[in-house]
Amino acid sequence: GATLGVLGGGQLGRMFAHAAQSMGYFTAVLDADATSPAGLVSHHHVRSGYEDPQGLAELARLCAAVTTEFENVPAAALNQLALSLPVSPAGASVAIAQDRAAEKAHFVKCGVPCAPYAVIETAEQLAAVNDALLPGILKTARMGYDGKGQVRVKTREELATAWAELGQVACVLEKMLPLAHECSVIVARSRQGAIVNLPVQRNLHREGILAVTEVYAGNLPAAQAEQAIAAAQSVAEGLDYVGVLCVEFFVLESGQLVVNEIAPRPHNSGHYSQNALDVSQFELQVRCMANLPLVQPRQHSAAIMLNLLGDLWFTNSPTAKTPAWDQILALPGCHLHLYGKVDAKRGRKMGHLNITAATPEQVRATALQAAAILGIAPF
Ligand code: ATP
Ligand code: MG
Ligand code: MG
Repeated sequence: GATLGVLGGGQLGRMFAHAAQSMGYFTAVLDADATSPAGLVSHHHVRSGYEDPQGLAELARLCAAVTTEFENVPAAALNQLALSLPVSPAGASVAIAQDRAAEKAHFVKCGVPCAPYAVIETAEQLAAVNDALLPGILKTARMGYDGKGQVRVKTREELATAWAELGQVACVLEKMLPLAHECSVIVARSRQGAIVNLPVQRNLHREGILAVTEVYAGNLPAAQAEQAIAAAQSVAEGLDYVGVLCVEFFVLESGQLVVNEIAPRPHNSGHYSQNALDVSQFELQVRCMANLPLVQPRQHSAAIMLNLLGDLWFTNSPTAKTPAWDQILALPGCHLHLYGKVDAKRGRKMGHLNITAATPEQVRATALQAAAILGIAPF
């Protein structure tokens, strides 16, 4: 068997490795952390940083193709690897996803509406901000995730303070929009340009972190879902993207669909695909890398995913405590996925629970029961 490699050893790399291995591949992970979730389940673990030419050369020697699971892997690392083997997604695509200013410019280029925004890199740009963007959210252009590196601002004074607090790094100020809900679409695109998509996911965020994803008939109005899929496809095509891409959207109270951001990899909102679709987002990642045919995944069950954050390990006790998995697994259609992380911390993604059922009503009933057992607020 050939070896497929992944830059980054987090849970996304671990689930990629599981999918690759079940299709007969060996896996190699590049991550400096000796106990990374993906490193623990892979045949090869190259323990080096993303900027270490020796580590990258070792990965290239081991692998037939390479992907990434870590959004902030330097594009230069992907470009170096691409000199000797197929790399998906390409460094150029990842570079755009890493920079909110470049990302928004790409949305504008594709004709996909996004929130009104301004790029703030200098004091002059800060002073020139249009009042129409307030109240808004100031976001660092680079390195933000799970709502980190973001400050909500109501006035020009708050904006100036927030920019100083963020260290006067390059930022994007976005107008705060009245959201009815959020959704996302995951697409996979091959080297030949074939494109398939997962069903549209409806997402609930809490404190900037994805909490719940619901995917079943009627989770969104059909017209919104079709619009989101078309927009995601044009974003991927505009990048000449190869691999798995997630496009996040806002649905405004007016019903208007607005693109939020992209992630150049499988996404937390696509985890339900492991148990509710006949092809998971991780299998699509493998197929893209190995240049195997892409087929449109089919949904066989209504699905809800609950994220299992480290908070749950502290819910009923001041000291760490494992949630009651025996009660959860006694419910029908509960699929537990834990990432092998040892230390639970608040806000840390420790695992997820996929719940499947024959109907939307049944899946919601079971998911709400599971949430009550775990101490997750109802949704
Ligand atoms: P991720 O972990 O998904 O990469 P992130 O840190 O990149 O998250 P965003 O997706 O930019 O953060 O924002 C996090 C959440 O904050 C959004 O899902 C949404 O709930 C809210 N939010 C962000 N921007 C806006 C906006 N312009 N108007 C209203 N709500 C917003
Ligand atoms: Mg993001
Ligand atoms: Mg986001």
